Amino acid sequence: MVAGGGTMGAGIAFVAAKAGFAVDLVEPESAAQDRARSQIAKQAERFKVPDAAQRIQLYASIPDQSDAGLAIEAVPERLDLKRAIFAQLARSLGPSALLATNTSSLAVGEIAAGIEHPQRVLGLHFFNPPSLMQLVEIVYTPDTGDDEIDRARELVERFGKTAVLAADTPGFIVNRVARPFYLQSLRALAAGAAPLEDLDRLARGAGFRMGPFELMDLIGLDVNLATSESIYERTGAERFEPVALQREMVAQNRLGRKTGAGFYDYSNGAPPHDDAAPAPPQSVNSDEKIVIVGAGGLAEELHDALQRAYSDVSLWEDEEALDELPLDATIVIDVGDGARDRGAVLEGLDASLPRETMIFADAYATDLSGAARRMKFPDRLVGYGVLASLETQRAIEIVDSEDVSDDGLELAQELFESIGRNVVLVEDSPALFLGRVVGSIVNEAVYAVEEDVASADDIDVAMQLGTNYPRGPLAWGREIGGDRVRRILQRLAKAEGAAFAPHRALWVLDAQSPDEASGIEEGAMVLGES
Ligand code: NAD
Repeated sequence: MVAGGGTMGAGIAFVAAKAGFAVDLVEPESAAQDRARSQIAKQAERFKVPDAAQRIQLYASIPDQSDAGLAIEAVPERLDLKRAIFAQLARSLGPSALLATNTSSLAVGEIAAGIEHPQRVLGLHFFNPPSLMQLVEIVYTPDTGDDEIDRARELVERFGKTAVLAADTPGFIVNRVARPFYLQSLRALAAGAAPLEDLDRLARGAGFRMGPFELMDLIGLDVNLATSESIYERTGAERFEPVALQREMVAQNRLGRKTGAGFYDYSNGAPPHDDAAPAPPQSVNSDEKIVIVGAGGLAEELHDALQRAYSDVSLWEDEEALDELPLDATIVIDVGDGARDRGAVLEGLDASLPRETMIFADAYATDLSGAARRMKFPDRLVGYGVLASLETQRAIEIVDSEDVSDDGLELAQELFESIGRNVVLVEDSPALFLGRVVGSIVNEAVYAVEEDVASADDIDVAMQLGTNYPRGPLAWGREIGGDRVRRILQRLAKAEGAAFAPHRALWVLDAQSPDEASGIEEGAMVLGES
């Protein structure tokens, strides 16, 4: 049985009917009944399951008695209403039937307070639209029974969906771990990091299906804000505090697509994307001599890519012998992001290299303006951002700092475009844009593991299926490196407050084996699957 035949209820009823189940769908409003009927008919046609609609029986109220084995309520998000519906469902269905809520933001335990046989109560959080979204979060309360969770999982699988298990905590997995995508993007925009079109392009370049601003426009700024407000209120954690800019836009009814304007203007349709990466030239006609300082991963990747465009590119792996760098190098790219103080490294490079040599430095984990202050020729310092690897990043942040010369910026643009990457100029701010956003998502995932919201595996699966992230946040954190994420977020926290500080368990992402971490205090769960 499904109670509530709106967007979600009708969709969930269809999913169950498509899987062969008979469904009683309860919807009191006749207009909503009509909408549900036509929505179900359309989906039956689309998915080529003509008999699915016949398996759905519409009711105007919950029958006094039902032999259904599962009820899912999908009525409007109001605690009093949901409680009343739950009480009716508990009376109507037998004591062994599962009672589920599709709530996004209320506590499952509160909706079901006082219900007899509380072991049968759980959340089944489907995503919109249920027919297309693969994920269902199974939410358990302290009272939910293990057998009941197993039965719920089996049903979700028979519905053709993927289940993840989440504790009854604010936002469960997806809505919580996704918060920094919106909130940190809003903070970056409010701080003037770059125009929002550029920030969206950067996010897409890092693999997100949509940029945060176009996505908020699609979801509705009010709906998105309500989720943040709810999680902020329920946790009291400052990092979830909504951003004034969004509240102001909601107050002005700039809600996104549905009101014709949000971050973008929709009066002439959706804004076009211009993400096409520049075609790498056969070779760049230049006399540059490029030296890449660093070893492994990104250093090698840059070396390989740049070699295809430039004729003189070499790798310098010995960080201890930087004073022996070839003096005819015209561009030195510092990729080293190890334990050494990059400010000191850059100061040393500045002292030993000829005046004309440009120096590129990782801007995510380096205090660029601090380093510039220590240099004699700070105009040659160009900050660039590659989070984990070139392969996974189509757009590169270049820092338009106070010091850097126009020549330096142009050179950076030419260099990254020569390897087929888009370049986006951003202001110098701690962690830049992607460091701030992706780093904070990884951090939130670590919080969620540490607070027993869900397993690391389930969090990674949930974020890929529930929000289309290009990779799970914990896997992403391992790719970037837990220590690197920690250093990126330390810079953010120093500038914007301890609320954004890295979780102390981030280091676990770098552990080589489960044994290495499980021996040492908590956090071992994070690497269970590595
Ligand atoms: P909706 O407004 O589209 O549908 C709710 C339906 O419930 C309406 O048709 C309404 O007439 C009906 N209803 C009201 N009182 C009822 C009653 N006493 N008995 C039976 N039906 C009743 O809302 P929705 O977007 O489908 O959301 C429903 C639930 O799903 C909410 O808890 C929401 O938080 C959750 N949810 C929504 C989304 C989403 O993107 N819309 C995603 C995940 C979860």
